[in-house]
Amino acid sequence: MLATRDTVLATYARADVTFVEGDGAWLTAADGTRYLDFAAGIAVVGLGHRHPEPLAAAHAQLDRLWHVSNLYWTEPMTRLADLLSDRFGGARAFFCNSGAEAVEAAIKHARKATGRPGVVALEGSFHGRTLGALSATGQPAKRAAFEPLVPGVGFARLNDTASLEAAVGPDTALILVEPVQGEGGVHAAAPGFLAAAAELAAEHGALLCFDEVQTGVGRTGSFFAFEQLGVRPHLVTLAKGLANGLPIGALLVSDHAPAGLAPGDHASTFGGNPVVTAAACAVVGAVDDELLANVRARSAQLAAALPVRGAGLLLGAETVGPASEAVAACLDADLLVTSAGPTTLRLSPPLTVTAEEVAQAISILQEVLP
Ligand SMILES: *Cc1c(COP(=O)(O)O)cnc(C)c1O
Repeated sequence: MLATRDTVLATYARADVTFVEGDGAWLTAADGTRYLDFAAGIAVVGLGHRHPEPLAAAHAQLDRLWHVSNLYWTEPMTRLADLLSDRFGGARAFFCNSGAEAVEAAIKHARKATGRPGVVALEGSFHGRTLGALSATGQPAKRAAFEPLVPGVGFARLNDTASLEAAVGPDTALILVEPVQGEGGVHAAAPGFLAAAAELAAEHGALLCFDEVQTGVGRTGSFFAFEQLGVRPHLVTLAKGLANGLPIGALLVSDHAPAGLAPGDHASTFGGNPVVTAAACAVVGAVDDELLANVRARSAQLAAALPVRGAGLLLGAETVGPASEAVAACLDADLLVTSAGPTTLRLSPPLTVTAEEVAQAISILQEVLP
């Protein structure tokens, strides 16, 4: 029976292609066409499709235990928390199922820790579609139909320290920043701006959170983007790349951050699911020096051939016409890319992508980009 597609709520502008299988940086469609995947599920499938390590870990856990309530402990969940704490240099993890939920947890943690309501986020930011995360998303078009949103959110301009100083005050609980704005057009935060954000947070007793849902887990060439930026935030959110495609989100709270959430304050039924966290442990283990060196080398290869901005393998290029047309032209050439804003084409291939695959993508992109 052929599905009609009429039964799916039309929240996405989907391309007319159905994928049935993945392998590394390649996807196979139902009609047998093979596509080079420079979307990777929007920076999700960081190790490439069917990477053997998370695949084996998830399979083994599927055969052992699928779920228990967070009223109890499981081994994969505690192991993942340990691994992330090690990478961070001392932190505690709360696990959920998505990026938006990780941001919600960050906002609640900051409100509880400070007793204040305020959040300062940035224009052009993206933090998710749930009402709290949407309230901190600096894109009016995504917000307008859903007001009134959560009160207490103010916006500053990226890399404009004066506007951040003006926005942060005695009511501020949280300063929320993406190290590289992903959905908002692939715009990197300058180290000096982030240092100013950290100083303002310290001065006003607010918490600084880096939303690393898109930049984390090796995407920019280090496990966390903040490692290259000279600033240690109190809070970090992770999600997209953390389990190579299984649903997960995480809030990391630095051991140096003020205490916030206590038993009973926050929860997620599925958060920390054993199968998902078993896969995530394998992902974290696979993000080693060799993989991070590949991220930097492939990034340099792309930047040498194309007019891109961003960091690591989260790159953006301006299009002459609408980005959607460039995305469609790439699809016609069997290359998957995404847009990030109206005139930005975004490249977020698997971190395992090879030099040869990058060369193939470059030859297509050179036709499509100005
Ligand atoms: C994708 C994204 C989110 C939202 O993640 P979901 O899993 O879609 O809820 C939040 N923050 C950033 C920076 C993102 O890129």
